[in-house]
Amino acid sequence: MKPKITSIRVREALSKSGLPDLDYALNPYMGCWHACTYCYARLYTHLRDIAENWGEIIAVKENIVEVLRHEVKVKKPGVVGVGTITDAYQPIEASYKLTRQSISILLDNGFHASIQTKNTLVLRDLDILVEHRGKVDVGFTITSLDKKITSLIEPRAPPPKARARALYKVSSEGIETWLFYGPIIPRLNDDLETIKELVELASATNSVFYYDKLRVKPFMLNPSHPLYIAAKRARNYPWRRLYEKIHEICRMKRVECRPGMEYTPTRQTSTLDKYL
Ligand code: SF4
Repeated sequence: MKPKITSIRVREALSKSGLPDLDYALNPYMGCWHACTYCYARLYTHLRDIAENWGEIIAVKENIVEVLRHEVKVKKPGVVGVGTITDAYQPIEASYKLTRQSISILLDNGFHASIQTKNTLVLRDLDILVEHRGKVDVGFTITSLDKKITSLIEPRAPPPKARARALYKVSSEGIETWLFYGPIIPRLNDDLETIKELVELASATNSVFYYDKLRVKPFMLNPSHPLYIAAKRARNYPWRRLYEKIHEICRMKRVECRPGMEYTPTRQTSTLDKYL
C-alpha cells in the first residue's frame, strides 16, 4: 500500500508558529503516511481531501526549498519547528529530500531547527546535524516501547525500539535530544511500567522528557473511531495524579521533565494546572 502523491506550490516556507517558543514552523509535506489514529495534525491541514483521508494522500510542497532560500535572507532568524503538522521524515522524504535541504538552509543561515519525528530516517541527515550541533535539537515521539501497543495507534511508524536506537545514536553524537511521551491514552500506555521504561530511556540518552495527555478531539468521538472509548475515559481521568507520578519518577532518575503542550527544549516548566 502506498500513499497517493500530489504536489502543490507554496508562497511561504516558514509560517508563524502558534506553539510557544517556536518562532516558525516548517512542514515540507502536507499529510502524513504514518497515519497515527490520534493525530491532531489533520485538524490543521487545510486541504480537505488530505485531512479527511489522513495517511492516504501526501502533498509535496515542490517549491519549498526555493521559497525558503529567499525567506532566510529576509526573515529574522529564530527557532523553527520542523514537522509540526506532518512528520518531516516520513518515508517519502527518502526520495524527495525536502527536509534535508531545508534544515541545511536553515542551519547555514543562523536559524535553530527543532525536529520532532517518529522516523529513523532522520539518521540519514546526521552529517548536517553533527556539523551544526548546538543549533539543532531532535525529539522522538515514543508512546510505549511495546510494539503491540504502538502498532494499534501508530500503525505505519517505525517500531518503538528502532526509534529508541535512533535516539541513542543522535544523542551519542552530542546533539540535544528529547523524548516525547504522548499522547498518554487511558488504559493503553498509562501504566507505571511504560513510564519507568521511557524515563529510563530519557536518562540513558540524556534527553529531556516531555509528556502529554490524549487531547480529545471531535473526530475521536465517533463510535467507530478506534479511540472512542479511550477518549471518553480521558475526560474523567485523574491526570493530575498521573502527572505527579511522572515528575516523581523523573526526579528519582534525575531526568528533566516538562509538560508536553510546550514541548520544545527551550521552554520552562510551569505549574501543572495549566496543562490539566
Ligand atoms: S507521525 Fe505525527 S504528523 Fe504523522 S500521523 Fe503521526 S502524529 Fe500525525
